[in-house]
Amino acid sequence: MKSLHPIEHHRQNCRDVRAEMSDHIDGEFEGDRKAFERHIHWCPNCWRILRNLRLTVTGLRRLRDRASMDS
Ligand SMILES: [Zn+2]
Repeated sequence: MKSLHPIEHHRQNCRDVRAEMSDHIDGEFEGDRKAFERHIHWCPNCWRILRNLRLTVTGLRRLRDRASMDS
């Protein structure tokens, strides 16, 4: 069995974590939540992406709520 270089392994995790992010924000994630949180804890890149995604999603929801209140 070929083991990945730690950096390569980390990059692979980043790809997986980023693919799962929108499910996490929607509360629909059904996989290994602990592994996801551990990766976010140790990976500043993914942490920043997740934070930006959350801000975008909550911003959009707020806009949508305001639009439905006006109508
Ligand atoms: Zn990462």
